[in-house]
Amino acid sequence: MSQKFDVVVIGAGPGGYVAAIKAAQLGLKTACIEKYQDKEGKLALGGTCLNVGCIPSKALLDSSWKFYEAKNGFSIHGISTSEVSMDVPAMVGRKANIVKGLTGGVASLFKANGVTTLQGHGKLLAGKKVELTAADGTVEIIEADHVILASGSRPIDIPPAPVDQKVIVDSTGALEFQQVPQRLGVIGAGVIGLELGSVWARLGAQVTVLEALEKFIPAADEAVSKEALKTFTKQGLDIKLGARVTGSKVEGEEVVVSYTDAAGEQSITFDRLIVAVGRRPVTTDLLASDSGVDLDERGFIYVDDYCTTSVPGVYAIGDVVRGLMLAHKASEEGIMVVERIKGHKAQMNYNLIPSVIYTHPEIAWVGKTEQTLKSEGVEVNVGTFPFAASGRAMAANDTGGFVKIIADAKTDRVLGVHVIGPSAAELVQQGAIAMEFGSSAEDIGMMVFSHPTLSEALHEAALAVNGGAIHIQNRKKR
Ligand SMILES: Cc1cc2nc3c(=O)[nH]c(=O)nc-3n(C[C@H](O)[C@H](O)[C@H](O)COP(=O)(O)OP(=O)(O)OC[C@H]3O[C@@H](n4cnc5c(N)ncnc54)[C@H](O)[C@@H]3O)c2cc1C
Repeated sequence: MSQKFDVVVIGAGPGGYVAAIKAAQLGLKTACIEKYQDKEGKLALGGTCLNVGCIPSKALLDSSWKFYEAKNGFSIHGISTSEVSMDVPAMVGRKANIVKGLTGGVASLFKANGVTTLQGHGKLLAGKKVELTAADGTVEIIEADHVILASGSRPIDIPPAPVDQKVIVDSTGALEFQQVPQRLGVIGAGVIGLELGSVWARLGAQVTVLEALEKFIPAADEAVSKEALKTFTKQGLDIKLGARVTGSKVEGEEVVVSYTDAAGEQSITFDRLIVAVGRRPVTTDLLASDSGVDLDERGFIYVDDYCTTSVPGVYAIGDVVRGLMLAHKASEEGIMVVERIKGHKAQMNYNLIPSVIYTHPEIAWVGKTEQTLKSEGVEVNVGTFPFAASGRAMAANDTGGFVKIIADAKTDRVLGVHVIGPSAAELVQQGAIAMEFGSSAEDIGMMVFSHPTLSEALHEAALAVNGGAIHIQNRKKR
């Protein structure tokens, strides 16, 4: 007799594991299939995010920031230190312990909620059956009323820079360097490239970022991306825009990278090269040829706004489907799908998914940019407040950047919140809450904000939308 479940989830990343826990909480008999093994060969839940993504990268970002501050930011506070040094293997080891704790935490949550963990490779067959192949090759067929595909994504490889995980690495390899490379190249100025480049730059690497696009962080508001480029360049990152990599040659412990830019053909030598040009959906051997599930033209599993695939009772969520490749998007899709399986009318607000880049200063936004709104013909009022005018930011010696709030000129409804500066990720979340409730800039302006906080910058930017900021001169007059 094959095992039968109400819900079978394939993949235990932030999409899959959250969906599985939610399903069990709602009383559904649930199993989650995962194949990922850690370095010790043990099953590790949590997907890309917990094992080689969000969490390990933030662990290294936090360690490297502390080092950078100790070296460069203490003296202004009157603190002197003897020589500050970094033990890279200890830093990477701390990161590994955090990952272990969190992935183990997911296993405990599965146990506590009654989710059955099935180790192996899952493949969807016709008729909502799932083939589970264990590491030793044993095959089992599992039946399900509902199947949730959450197989995630993996780094995109490019032929001019084949990853060997020694000299040329992807994002996973870049979390494992045991020493600081003297000359580090990064292909791609996206979120992952900028975050990983920042880690190693703070520890002393001379970092060059090669980006094929002419525009820096094109998804961000232009005011933010301009400020970011200026700040990162001042920090020592050499960001080459319009630089298209055409080849690479590993010579011992070095790699010579050739690229073309406006000036013609160039070449540059690095000790390590990170390829961070994006991620692609994982669908290899996930769907039997008669499963009935369609892919879209870009290779993602085709789903509608509710994450239902072309087969009734089969859903797909997270990085393997269209939309932003973010952990919180994957998790919320998982919750929505399970709520709908239970017959609830859940839906997701895809317009209000915050984006964050965890550099220093942090960059975060939610809603639309001023450029997008203008191109859509929407008349807007804009309020901006610089952290240079924030008492809390001054106290922390962290005054770079600003908060920008964009509101509809007719209704005053907030349409976008964009932050570059300290705690941008946390501040933008406040904007997201306000926007979800249809807040106007005036509504935010009428709220009481604690003093002194960085959040006051959000308050002042909202006041500035209608010319009422107190602690800066207003560009717009009331
Ligand atoms: C360096 C880096 C930093 C990042 N930082 C952030 C961040 O700060 N914030 C953020 O929101 N996002 C971040 N991301 C993106 C984030 O990790 C992903 O968006 C998120 O993990 C997607 O979740 P998911 O559940 O869809 O897929 P994944 O996390 O990729 O999980 C999919 C899981 O499915 C398993 N699997 C696949 N196929 C099968 C199969 N056939 N059978 C069994 N198991 C299978 C895989 O082993 C994997 O464990 C980062 C990514 C990287 C690489």
